[in-house]
Amino acid sequence: MTTQKLETQFIHATGVDRETGAVNVPLYLSSTYHQESFDEFGPFDYSRSGNPTRLKLEETIAKLENGTRGFAFSSGMAAISSAFMLLSAGDHVLVSKDVYGGTYRFVTEVLNKFQIDYTFVNMTDLSEMAEAIRPNTKVIYLETPSNPVMNITDIEIAAKLAKANDCLTFVDNTFMTPLYQNPLNLGADLVLHSATKFLSGHSDIIAGLAVTKDAELGTRLGFIQNTFGSVLGAQDAYTLIQGIKTLGARLKQSSASARIIADYLHSHPAIEEVYYPGFRFHPGYPIHERQATGAGAVLSFRLADKEAARTFVESLQIPLFAVSLGAVESILSYPATMSHASMPKEERDKRGITDGLLRLSVGLEHTDDLLEDLEQALQKVRQQTGNAPSLL
Ligand SMILES: *Cc1c(COP(=O)(O)O)cnc(C)c1O
Repeated sequence: MTTQKLETQFIHATGVDRETGAVNVPLYLSSTYHQESFDEFGPFDYSRSGNPTRLKLEETIAKLENGTRGFAFSSGMAAISSAFMLLSAGDHVLVSKDVYGGTYRFVTEVLNKFQIDYTFVNMTDLSEMAEAIRPNTKVIYLETPSNPVMNITDIEIAAKLAKANDCLTFVDNTFMTPLYQNPLNLGADLVLHSATKFLSGHSDIIAGLAVTKDAELGTRLGFIQNTFGSVLGAQDAYTLIQGIKTLGARLKQSSASARIIADYLHSHPAIEEVYYPGFRFHPGYPIHERQATGAGAVLSFRLADKEAARTFVESLQIPLFAVSLGAVESILSYPATMSHASMPKEERDKRGITDGLLRLSVGLEHTDDLLEDLEQALQKVRQQTGNAPSLL
């Protein structure tokens, strides 16, 4: 079974319903469960602790990430926050510098209230990471590729460093999904997903997932999931299972378009820089190529300034201008006021999240239509800046 390709597993991991043969997982809308015996209770008692629909999803993501336990939460941030609750007062965490804005906010404004200390480090630099480790460091938390400037962290090396120092490694795998990257296989202890993005894929639900391999860590996270209680509802669990089935086809198609668009933007004179981990000249390329099997469908690029970004966004016809990513629709975001609005400007600038930076999550529209739309919007940018010998 494990020799099956992930695309096959996406479709068949949940299996058919044993009782009825139903092709889709039954939707169990039940908060509580009747107990037949006075003395011995069944596998389900209350849906915060466990729901059969949610369990199918949790078993599925555990399988896909090559873990042993999966956990479904009401959002990516609920999954991430719950994972951080494995820590105790007096502990210290290393967090990658260009972490998701909501994670940055959780670490700097919530964790600190519980006397959990943190250091943001540039995780592309192993010595900076090693030097930041303290005797009380318990977790190395990373995202690779990072959001939005696509820095690559070597998961295997980070996990080795963590193990040597008695720390756990948490990896936010939202951008790559299990199709392209399996952090547990590289030594990570806990994998996190905003399943709101590629895993569900249709801009319809907010959901989070976590996967562990170690049994004891799984038990501890399960305890937190049940105790903190930010679980995913059964309806959304069902929707997410359906989304995962088409993940392979969706992500491969979007990634193929993203590659073409990245090349196009890279060659365009109005674009100052393109951040895309599939470029051979990307500084993290050799590491990314070793640890992931695809470059993904998200890229960022820099226009001259805020005015250029505004003109560009206002001229585009196809992509939605919205927060989020990983959907069938192409989504263009402006990190400075969207995903990273909770980060002070000074911190944003340090991370390259400048006023000209835009992030594009490539959807499933025809690549030619997307290219044509980008081209006409960039022409408007060049007309505005007035220095425009036509490209064509
Ligand atoms: C969106 C996102 C999150 C947060 O997930 P929600 O489902 O919005 O709570 C965390 N990490 C990354 C990389 C994300 O893109």
